[in-house]
Amino acid sequence: MIKVKKPFVNLEQLKEITKEYPTPFHLYDEKGIRENARKLHQAFAWNEGFKEYFAVKATPNPTILKILKEERCGADCSSLTELMMSEQVGFSGDDIMFSSNVTPKEDFELASKLDAIINLDDITHIEFLEEIAGIPETISCRYNPGNNFKSDNDIMDNPTEAKYGFTYEQLVEGFNILQEKGAKHFGIHAFLASNTVANEYYPALAKILFETAVKLNKETGAHISFINLSGGVGIPYRPDEEPADILAIGEGVRKAYEEILVPAGMNDVAIYTELGRFMLGPFGHLVATAIHEKNIHKNYIGLDACAANLMRPAMYGAYHHITVMGKENEPHDHKYDVTGGLCENNDKFAIDRMLPKIDKGDLVVIHDTGAHGFAMGYNYNGKLRSAEVLLKEDGTTELIRRAETPADYFATLDI
Ligand SMILES: *Cc1c(COP(=O)(O)O)cnc(C)c1O
Repeated sequence: MIKVKKPFVNLEQLKEITKEYPTPFHLYDEKGIRENARKLHQAFAWNEGFKEYFAVKATPNPTILKILKEERCGADCSSLTELMMSEQVGFSGDDIMFSSNVTPKEDFELASKLDAIINLDDITHIEFLEEIAGIPETISCRYNPGNNFKSDNDIMDNPTEAKYGFTYEQLVEGFNILQEKGAKHFGIHAFLASNTVANEYYPALAKILFETAVKLNKETGAHISFINLSGGVGIPYRPDEEPADILAIGEGVRKAYEEILVPAGMNDVAIYTELGRFMLGPFGHLVATAIHEKNIHKNYIGLDACAANLMRPAMYGAYHHITVMGKENEPHDHKYDVTGGLCENNDKFAIDRMLPKIDKGDLVVIHDTGAHGFAMGYNYNGKLRSAEVLLKEDGTTELIRRAETPADYFATLDI
């Protein structure tokens, strides 16, 4: 029995929507986004200072950011344009976390002007930031534990190979230097694994960061006011995967907090997160139309969308579930490669996927494209970026980004 995922729209709705907006486009589910954000807040309601800074890079769209702002989220930025978009949407000061690396001067200038919380990626950035904008009273440093935490290695990626963060010794030195330069409140940040559906990741990371915070506080006397667990909570891309249980995750972090921080007298530490995928991933569909069928050594279905609209399958071999709309209950007895039209053989949304018989003109939903979907799009082969459409809570739709036209493609050229 093949397991399936249910789209958040049905064929009838989608037929109406495609009358107004031609495929391909990314469709977002406002109701799902809001309910999920509320569940996250419920999971961490035990922590007074809790704040989710949505990772803007996952879905950089002002309307999406506004929805999350209404749901009490801040913005996690890592570039100049992400800062500019967040400012436009109305985020400022403590609502913005600036977690960048290899940071250009202009980016620190704007982050400082907006009074964003700056999360430094490297010890040399202390001097760099001081020259550009001065050292703020509240500042954060990103931690790279290297291979200090072998016991957790079945959950964590290998931090030794990661370009990010300070070593522990650099954190001690950095906190001391920052205190001399006037910093008063400190944060610690780490991002040690991506797309984890195991409920143990955040609690294991929290334990590492809480123990580090206690040690740092003892060794440097620095006041640690927040701990940023960053991103990494995943989503079930495959229909047979269990979703992360955010309430259990919140409880796991609370347990580590009570075991480690509370006995050390550090019970005023706020927990921050910078989730992207978890906040938006399941609440986006890439909607496309089957425009060609080709039978050679294998059977191919060609869509009007391509890897330029969704790069994850081509880039990571990532699985994205596909629903052929209106054929949900038909036997999945056809084996297809579902492709886009790039001159690149890795432009395949699915390989050897069992699906119902697909006819030209069928509407196809590619699931879980709400985060790192549109955002990773590109213009290879002169393909144009698609529109983004919001399915609102009342069932109506709003165009939240128009599709590119050839004029956009040529806009940076003088011909
Ligand atoms: C990408 C990123 C995130 C979000 O990661 P998700 O896997 O989408 O949750 C958060 N923080 C930083 C610094 C990142 O680079």
